[in-house]
Amino acid sequence: MTNRYYLWTVGCQMNKADSEKLAAGFERMGLKATDRIERADIVVLNTCSVRQHAEDRAYSKLGRIRDLKRTKPDMKVVVMGCMVGLKTDDLEKRFPQVDVFARPQQFAPIIELIDGPAEDLGGEFWPTTYAIPEGPTAYVPVVHGCNKFCTYCIVPYRRGREKSRAMDEIVREVAYLTAQGVREVTLLGQTVEAYGHDLAEQPDLGDLMRELSALDRLERIRFLTSYPKDMTHRILSAVAELPKVMECFSLPVQAGSDAVLESMRRGYTRQEFVDKIAEVRRLMPGAGITTDIIVGYPGETEADFEATVDLLEELRFDKVHVAAYSPRPGTIAWRKMPDDVPADVKAARLHRIEEVEARIAEEINQHYVGTVQEILIEGVRKEQPFGRTRTGKLVHLDAPARIGSLVDVTIGHAGAFSLRGAVEDSLALV
Ligand code: SF4
Repeated sequence: MTNRYYLWTVGCQMNKADSEKLAAGFERMGLKATDRIERADIVVLNTCSVRQHAEDRAYSKLGRIRDLKRTKPDMKVVVMGCMVGLKTDDLEKRFPQVDVFARPQQFAPIIELIDGPAEDLGGEFWPTTYAIPEGPTAYVPVVHGCNKFCTYCIVPYRRGREKSRAMDEIVREVAYLTAQGVREVTLLGQTVEAYGHDLAEQPDLGDLMRELSALDRLERIRFLTSYPKDMTHRILSAVAELPKVMECFSLPVQAGSDAVLESMRRGYTRQEFVDKIAEVRRLMPGAGITTDIIVGYPGETEADFEATVDLLEELRFDKVHVAAYSPRPGTIAWRKMPDDVPADVKAARLHRIEEVEARIAEEINQHYVGTVQEILIEGVRKEQPFGRTRTGKLVHLDAPARIGSLVDVTIGHAGAFSLRGAVEDSLALV
């Protein structure tokens, strides 16, 4: 009998959302969570393949599970997520300790493994099961998959083509979440502005935001990850017009050199990206904008790299997520492009981006000092409440505040990674 589950998750917010949904499904079927793997009747590893490091962590877990299964042969083991492709023969040979390999959002074989109710599912979005919220914020996937096929990325091969959820289904889920105390939802997609193009009425992300804005108990709507070419003027106008939608963008550029962007098949030039950011800032001055950068992509010269640094100086992002390129088996870059930038050069470039960005972020954050910002209190860490500004800045508070409350905070201190402030409205204090 399957009583306890152990669920381990790495990777992006989409993986986290998938795990939360699976956990909610397990709980509804009477299973209880455990954080001790040796006590579990079923172990699920929700994996990520975007970087080698994430895969290595899953391999190390699988080694431990192999040993554990010798003493606990009835324990069921599932590997799900981006490590699982269409064909699983190699994985099956390599990891005989695993009972089921499930692709992202492929919940059915996992439920089957524990003899759960087959009629409970209903497709990859599992519309009858909502994640159990853990606080005032929640992730809500709205479009799965990706059609873009950037050369370095494994996501389209593992998560398949873009597929949008019906709008009424999303609205129902968000209404349910708000009834459970959620005040802010983050709408998720690998390229979230692709939402709706595959639905009969072809709504766009702006239409979805309008529908959700009508929910009384919902205070805030965020969205990620953006893809420059899908980000239309119509969607940007909706973000600017709707007060519940946060002016906060996660917009990966990946490189500042046209040669590298073309080689990556990102689908835009440096100038087109610069123009997109200009449009965002014209409609929403002061919008928070973060980006992603890959350094050491095949063929990246010193001049290409300097073009990336120059772009960061020009556009001044609030935050940069930087990673050194690592070839992912199965991608176009892995098949066709030699990984020719030496590891020490990649490390030096990564470090330089971090240094440049830390300075820029701190300069931007200093402008917040003395301003009053609307913060949603998300939780408490080390006895200090924390939350985020509309633009996505992390703020720590000096005094207690009620989790889930929306408060005005005067910012007194700013560093590169977070702000600190005091609540204006004493009613929010506990
Ligand atoms: S847009 Fe490119 S990088 Fe992003 S998920 Fe799709 S293929 Fe990967």
